[in-house]
Amino acid sequence: MLECAQVKRKANFNMSKKLIYSGKAKDIYTTEDENLIISTYKDQATAFNGVKKEQIAGKGVLNNQISSFIFEKLNAAGVATHFVEKISDTEQLNKKVEIIPLEVVLRNYTAGSFSKRFGVEEGIAFETPIVEFYYKNDDLDDPFINDEHVKFLKIADDQQIAYLKEETRRINKLLKAWFAEIGLKLIDFKLEFGFDKDGKIILADEFSPDNCRLWDADGNHMDKDVFRRGLGELTDVYEIVWEKLQGLK
Ligand code: UDP
Repeated sequence: MLECAQVKRKANFNMSKKLIYSGKAKDIYTTEDENLIISTYKDQATAFNGVKKEQIAGKGVLNNQISSFIFEKLNAAGVATHFVEKISDTEQLNKKVEIIPLEVVLRNYTAGSFSKRFGVEEGIAFETPIVEFYYKNDDLDDPFINDEHVKFLKIADDQQIAYLKEETRRINKLLKAWFAEIGLKLIDFKLEFGFDKDGKIILADEFSPDNCRLWDADGNHMDKDVFRRGLGELTDVYEIVWEKLQGLK
């Protein structure tokens, strides 16, 4: 009976679907409930602000699986997120938020743009993880932005900036421990937050190997660097991450 009601509810959500936003990795649709949206994960992989772009069969399903799994665990751990439920292989139901135009990056180890900018090798641990903000703006190439800039642009105030940093550090502690349990080192990651209908800041977007770096015990890249750097088949690697995550259940 319950299953039947759930199926009907999901069908209703799908019936009133209208595309409201098409991103690089996901499409966002309305539902009959103005406070809920459907995120559809696409098979598209992009890097370098969309300069490198490819269709990779199976990527959307894997990212939806991994992100749904992580967000469920974050919800259960008491983190306020937009995640409601996974409703199909490629879709999830999310709370509608007004996205804060910041990419909040946390680094446990040097890598990527940090290594490039400061000329340091990858894989050096930070004593205290570093939190950075980037201004989410494709036309400007998502520039690095500091707290003063964030305030000037009226993106967030002091209190909200402090909350974003604290919450990101708290989420890092959870994620780092979960990945360590399955033999993966969480090098860095990017989060996005948004304001929910009550004006509360909650975690939004996704968490998958598309927006984090994960290294295995041998230093192999188990994330989108495989695609960025042409190191192998992205879905093979994401499949391994997904299989390892099952070990956490
Ligand atoms: N990241 C992301 N989206 C972006 C930029 C970065 O998800 O538009 C993630 C990236 O996957 C990595 C972390 O944020 O896990 C730090 O990325 P970095 O600044 O080193 O930039 P990159 O080397 O990816 O250009």
